[in-house]
Amino acid sequence: LASQPVLQVNHLYKRYGRTHALQGVSLEVAAGEVLAILGPNGAGKTTLIAAILGLLRTDSGSISLFSELQQSNTREASVKQRLGVMMQIGSASANLTVAEQCDLFSSYYTNSKTVTELLTIAGLTEQANQRFSRLSGGQKQRLLFALALAGKPDLLFLDEPTLGMDVEARRALWQHIASLKAAGVAVVLTTHYLEEAEHLADRIAVLQHGKIIALGSPAQLTAQISGKQIFCKSS
Ligand code: ATP
Repeated sequence: LASQPVLQVNHLYKRYGRTHALQGVSLEVAAGEVLAILGPNGAGKTTLIAAILGLLRTDSGSISLFSELQQSNTREASVKQRLGVMMQIGSASANLTVAEQCDLFSSYYTNSKTVTELLTIAGLTEQANQRFSRLSGGQKQRLLFALALAGKPDLLFLDEPTLGMDVEARRALWQHIASLKAAGVAVVLTTHYLEEAEHLADRIAVLQHGKIIALGSPAQLTAQISGKQIFCKSS
């Protein structure tokens, strides 16, 4: 028996004025599955994740989380407790120390990881008393990843999680994502790196101009898209 999807998105539409940010996006993610959303700047990745998180009002379509239909722009506390989101570096509080950040995030959840556990996940035990702003780019990314796990989420969103990381840190994070998957956590990640999507994802959705133009296993995708210039990061 196939398990119920943790996330279901059906025919989602969102416009900002004349910009069609999402044009009929549909996808599903099951427990223990990693879905990578791949696409160039402006494809709609951030809008899609914000819509799933209930951070914006969509125009039409539906979103179910844990088999329950969601309102367009709110999420109940019981749903929020089961979601983990990796923030972008710019949204972190620069003046808090590493330990204070961990403490703050633990406090949001009834069933949370301890500060010590989060420091270990981030590999920043020795930097516990350093301010966020003093960390290196890679250290910041590792901390934000750990903070996303504070509530032991069933569904985890990672927006370009390895941006700016060196090869070693990237591999360590990939390893961590694999162990979350093995523990049954569903993961949705956005990335500009095809290699990262191929390495981590069970399925890859290619988003372009708000539409999913390809969806399948890495092997299926590689066959479909070879030759197309859709993975280049435009600056
Ligand atoms: P990136 O990889 O650069 O983060 P993205 O795939 O996440 O890009 P979105 O940020 O979702 O793309 O943007 C999709 C489209 O919607 C873009 O054309 C963007 O300019 C537009 N857009 C996003 N947010 C807004 C907003 N608040 N107001 C107006 N237009 C917006």
